[in-house]
Amino acid sequence: MQHHLNDEYLMDYAAGSASQPLSLLVATHLALCPECRAKVAAYEALGGALLDSAAPSAVAPDLLQSVLDRLDEPTAPESRIRRQPQVFDETTRRLIPEPLRSHLGASLDALAWSSIGRGVHQVELDIGGAEGFKTRFYRIRGGCGVPQHTHDGSELTLVLGGSFSDGIGRFGRGDVSIADGDVVHQPIADPGDDCYCLAITDGPLKLTGPVGRFLNIFMRY
Ligand SMILES: [Zn+2]
Repeated sequence: MQHHLNDEYLMDYAAGSASQPLSLLVATHLALCPECRAKVAAYEALGGALLDSAAPSAVAPDLLQSVLDRLDEPTAPESRIRRQPQVFDETTRRLIPEPLRSHLGASLDALAWSSIGRGVHQVELDIGGAEGFKTRFYRIRGGCGVPQHTHDGSELTLVLGGSFSDGIGRFGRGDVSIADGDVVHQPIADPGDDCYCLAITDGPLKLTGPVGRFLNIFMRY
């Protein structure tokens, strides 16, 4: 693994201030990366030490009573419904770590893929809590790729299976590609295994290549 998350992302995550899509991507990278796990642990320890040394803040006098009242409230019906246990096939368990696996909710072959070009399929994931974010999971056949594009915002892509190259670098399992508006790139899956990746964007992609300009008219990324 060569491409890690920036410290800013890891700090946001450790502080609990990362958006839900970003948290999902960071946590899934951490499942594969001891190096970033150690950094997050250090940031969490540092954050805890800062909290301990901060002056105690005033607490509403009725806080204890309101917490006790809440405990007496009947449990909401939804939380009593047992969720169906999710069964994943061997490939899915091997390639997709938690927490992403539970968010996908089904084995790779059973996902509701939609085709967005030759050899490229995507599933849009509904990860609440963040305005303007798109969270997508891609399956790109070896040798195929998404059209050349740049971004209004940032795009973070975490590779789970196979690998891709985009003229900037080669990204294999666990690697994170970080692209912002200055980057024009065209990820192409390397020949061989299907490339699976999780991508989050905080702005619409602007497709720029000759194919992209054409596709841009028809596709709203
Ligand atoms: Zn890392």
